[in-house]
Amino acid sequence: MKFQTKAIHSHQKPDKQTGAVVTPIVTTTTFAIKEPGAPVEYDYSRVSTPTRKTLESCFADLEEAKSCLALSSGCSAMHLILQLLSPGDLVLAEEDLYGGTLRLLKHVEKTQNIRVKHIDFSNLSMVKSMLTNEVKMIWLESPTNPLLKICDILTIAKAKPKEALLVVDSTFSSPYFQRPLDLGADIVIHSATKYIGGHSDCLAGLIVFNKEDLKEKFEFFNKTIGPVLSPFDSYLLLRSLKTLSLRMERHEKNALETAHFLKSNKRVKKVLYPGLPSHSNYEIAKRQMTGFGGVLSFLIEGGQKQAISFLKNLKIFTLAESLGAVESLAEHPLTMTHGSHASSSITEDLIRLSVGLEDIEDIKEDLQQALDKVKF
Ligand SMILES: *Cc1c(COP(=O)(O)O)cnc(C)c1O
Repeated sequence: MKFQTKAIHSHQKPDKQTGAVVTPIVTTTTFAIKEPGAPVEYDYSRVSTPTRKTLESCFADLEEAKSCLALSSGCSAMHLILQLLSPGDLVLAEEDLYGGTLRLLKHVEKTQNIRVKHIDFSNLSMVKSMLTNEVKMIWLESPTNPLLKICDILTIAKAKPKEALLVVDSTFSSPYFQRPLDLGADIVIHSATKYIGGHSDCLAGLIVFNKEDLKEKFEFFNKTIGPVLSPFDSYLLLRSLKTLSLRMERHEKNALETAHFLKSNKRVKKVLYPGLPSHSNYEIAKRQMTGFGGVLSFLIEGGQKQAISFLKNLKIFTLAESLGAVESLAEHPLTMTHGSHASSSITEDLIRLSVGLEDIEDIKEDLQQALDKVKF
C-alpha cells in the first residue's frame, strides 16, 4: 500500500465484534487473564494497550519501520532515548536544536554525567574528524529549529562509528516528507504535537526504529518508567494521520509561496527555507526529502524592536510557540522558544513562522499589513 492508503487503513480493519469502522478508544487499564502465567497480548496498559498499539503499528508502517512507541510528549520520547546512555558516554549533537532538546541535553549532562558536544553538522569535514569511536550517540534535527538547516543524514550515517546510534529528530518533515531510517538513522523521533497531531490539541511523541535490541530496551524503559501516550491521545493521532499527507502538501505549498513573497520584500533581509534554491543546503534537502515542510524563518530589517512590532501587528498569524498545526503561528525565538539556550545564531531580528492551512492570499496580506505598520 502507498502512504496515503496506509495512513487510513493500516491496522485499522473494522472491529470484528461491532463492525465499528473507527478504532475504538479502549480506556481499560487492566485486562482479564485466563490463569496466572498464561501468555497474553495485553495485561496492563502501561506496557501495552489496544488504541496505542494500533497507532504504533500504523505509524511504524508509515515510517517503514519495524517498531514504534508512542509517548506522552516529544520530550519524554527524547528522554527515553537518552536512557540508552551510560555515565561517561559522549553525545555529538547539532548546535541548532529545539530549545527543549538543548535543555534536556544539558540536564542529562549535569545529572547523569553524560558528555555532550554541540557542533555544526553542515560542516561535513569537521563532523567526520569528530566521529571517533568515543562517540556513542549522534543527535540531529533536520530541518533544524529555528534556522532550517539541513543535515546530510546519509553521509553522516556512513561516516559514523558502527556502535554510535544516529538519532534524527524529524519533527519538521513528518514521515510524509522524510524517512531517516532509510538513510541510515537508527532512531527517529517526532514531536507528534506538531505536524502529526496537526491541530494544536494533543501533546505526544513518537519514536521509530528497526533494531531488535532497541525494542527490548525501550519496552523495558516504558514498562519501568511509564511515559506512555493515553488511549484518547492515541486516538487523536490516528485520526490526524488520515489527513497528514493532505495537510503536509498544503503546508508546503503555502510555505513556499510565503518564502518567495517575503524574499521579494525590501524589509526582509533573509529568508531561511530549504525549498528556496538560494538556501545553502537546497541540494541535500532535495535529495533526502520529498517536500520542504511548512516552517520558515526570516530576518527582518532593524532589530528586536522591529521584530516585536511586526509580531504584534499580525492578525491571522497567532503569536505563540509551537508549529505544525492548521493555524499559522509566529514567534520570536530569541525571547520565546530559544531564550535561555540560544546560540549566537539566534539573533534578535529572527522570526519563525509556521505557515498554516489558511488561504494563501490572506496569509500574504496579513504579513504585508504587519510589515507596513513597522517603523524602520
Ligand atoms: C516541539 C519539539 C520537540 C518537543 O516536543 P513536545 O511534544 O513539545 O514535548 C522536540 N523537537 C522538536 C523539533 C520540536 O519542535
